[in-house]
Amino acid sequence: MKKFPALLAVLPLVALLAACGSTAAKDNDKPRVVASFYPFAYVAEQVGGSFVDVDNLTSPGAEPHDLELKPKQVAAVQEADLVVYEKHFQAAVDEAVDQADRPKDSTVDADTVLNALPAQAGAQEEGGHEGEEGDEDPHTWLDPTNMVLMAEDLSAKLSKVDPEHSSTYRANTDRLVAQLETLDTSFAAGLKTCERRTIVTSHAAFQYMAKRYDLTQVPIAGIDPTNEPSPAQLGDITQLVRKEGITTIFTEELVSPAIADTIAKEAGAMTATLDPIEGLSNDTSSENYLTLMEKNLTTLEKANSCS
Ligand SMILES: [Zn+2]
Repeated sequence: MKKFPALLAVLPLVALLAACGSTAAKDNDKPRVVASFYPFAYVAEQVGGSFVDVDNLTSPGAEPHDLELKPKQVAAVQEADLVVYEKHFQAAVDEAVDQADRPKDSTVDADTVLNALPAQAGAQEEGGHEGEEGDEDPHTWLDPTNMVLMAEDLSAKLSKVDPEHSSTYRANTDRLVAQLETLDTSFAAGLKTCERRTIVTSHAAFQYMAKRYDLTQVPIAGIDPTNEPSPAQLGDITQLVRKEGITTIFTEELVSPAIADTIAKEAGAMTATLDPIEGLSNDTSSENYLTLMEKNLTTLEKANSCS
């Protein structure tokens, strides 16, 4: 008699757990898209709209360069209907994609879709002891025209995964592409005539943007923001800032502004945030790629006295 109620109490729990397990594994028939970091998650969300579930492997507020994956995330890379990433940017993601041995038409790789530029050395790498020869610069997404190419490739592959909704994906893609093209036009117009064209940035994230809009980037750190320059190299940048009359040293949300602050103080310049949009932070959680890029444009126009 005593066991019976106990068993009754346990049974619904078991049933509930089983139900939870099955819904967690596949709560609907939506295609699952895994993106390795924010800008590509944004593209996937915009193209897929309400018909896809998008997971971002890099949590909000985390700096994506040194991403490590939990076993659960490695499994997600294996099981996703579509994976969007950039080879040579996040080693852990490269490894998970290799392990998963995914078919090419369900993997969107920026390194295949886009033309990568060689890495631009930061102050630290100029001596040749940090950056490796032949490294690619991963920061492709800061040129809006690269985002257009990513959107088109993702859209085509998503339509293969889920042909039923292909007309919606096409329409969503057209809308996003139009927004990105407007952004590109705004940047070209806004940065056409400036008193200065040099930008001193926290790390070497802005080469694609600089190339597209004819700016010259002087990065404090290299392509990886954790590389720190020597005092002598800091001195060189400080001198350059004074000589060229640079008004603003650019900092970013996910990296400490300490070094940029030091240079600004030494050279009598200001600091301002120029967001490499590697991820959203607490302060930018209500923003998106487009609004952050528009803010970047306003910041650049002001700092370089563009008219
Ligand atoms: Zn970066």
